[in-house]
Amino acid sequence: MVVLTKEQIIQKIMDSTSLSLDQVNTKIKQKLDQLSGLVSPDGAAHIVANELGVQVIPSTDQVLKINNLLEGLRNVELNVKVMKKFDKKDFQSARGPGKLASFIVADDSGRMRATFWNDKVDEFYDKFNENDTITIKNAYVRKNNYSGGLDLNLGDNCEIIVNPEGVEIEIDSSSEQAQRKKINELQATDFNAEILATIVQVSDIRFWETCPKCNKKPHYEEEKYICKEHGEIPAKELGYSYVLNCYLDDGSASIRTVFWREQVQKLLEETHENILKFRQEPDLFETYKSSLLGEMIKVSGRVNKNEAFDRIEFVANNIEKNPNPEQEIKNIKEDTSEDNKIADNKETNNQTDIKENKKPETFKEVDKNKKQDAIPTLDDIEEVNIDDE
Ligand SMILES: [Zn+2]
Repeated sequence: MVVLTKEQIIQKIMDSTSLSLDQVNTKIKQKLDQLSGLVSPDGAAHIVANELGVQVIPSTDQVLKINNLLEGLRNVELNVKVMKKFDKKDFQSARGPGKLASFIVADDSGRMRATFWNDKVDEFYDKFNENDTITIKNAYVRKNNYSGGLDLNLGDNCEIIVNPEGVEIEIDSSSEQAQRKKINELQATDFNAEILATIVQVSDIRFWETCPKCNKKPHYEEEKYICKEHGEIPAKELGYSYVLNCYLDDGSASIRTVFWREQVQKLLEETHENILKFRQEPDLFETYKSSLLGEMIKVSGRVNKNEAFDRIEFVANNIEKNPNPEQEIKNIKEDTSEDNKIADNKETNNQTDIKENKKPETFKEVDKNKKQDAIPTLDDIEEVNIDDE
């Protein structure tokens, strides 16, 4: 894949329009100002070309990579691996009811969210699974207004080929490494980030019944637990799962962090059986709660947007208790150059963040609102981001 430089794009624009070099440069400069540092000059040139209808990327069988994608690109073809498939969602918009299904795709250059819309959900959703390789054709790239990142959209014209012959996707394991961030740097698209923070608030553990065969949550009707797949579950066979929410603070901000079952076990250093005791005797949990407060932990996980509360939260997928402070300081020193880059970007992004992005609330604000701050339903946890569709 050849990505054109700004100079090459300017030449293409001049070849295809009556604009002069000065006029093209002015347009690119305006675009850069408008996006306040969110794109490179090359990226701004691409957007200007796109807005003028100048084809800068040949659409003939050109297979792109994720990190080559730019806002506004259409007819995009990509070979990707499906890393995560989220549930289908119904939504309401000004244009009426709709349906979407999101998934995370990756190639050797990066990863991103991809979303099917409406009829395409029915057509393709059941045709592939996590770890399948797929060829996506005729997708379009749009900026996610919430996160500022790019999303791949699969609308009416899109096509999917599952496990195309001769296509192997190698996912670079270094890109799988959690990226250390300050809490105030977390973005809704962070899929694998790591934070080092202090536990400043601990909720009660919330338990729910599970089907012993599939571990899914059965629904409860007429005093019976019924699994969609496995039918009625006798009370004595019911399993239980649980979730614990904590607020973590690293000095930059605080964020609500969700710990599921295995992570609760690690956090409390307790077995599943012992944790189940808290279900009937919640008082037993109080001593654990107070010993967690003030504890420093390292958590890797992903950022989730909680639609119900219009804020981001962190979902733990691994934790390390008692991180070694000396090692942490050393890590931070080694990362200094990288950190500076992030800090620079962050500065220019702040303007937009304030407009579009609800910052994680500070602990004080949260505490004040604690009463209304009910634990969201399980559905909320996997909520996907419905932007301006
Ligand atoms: Zn079941």
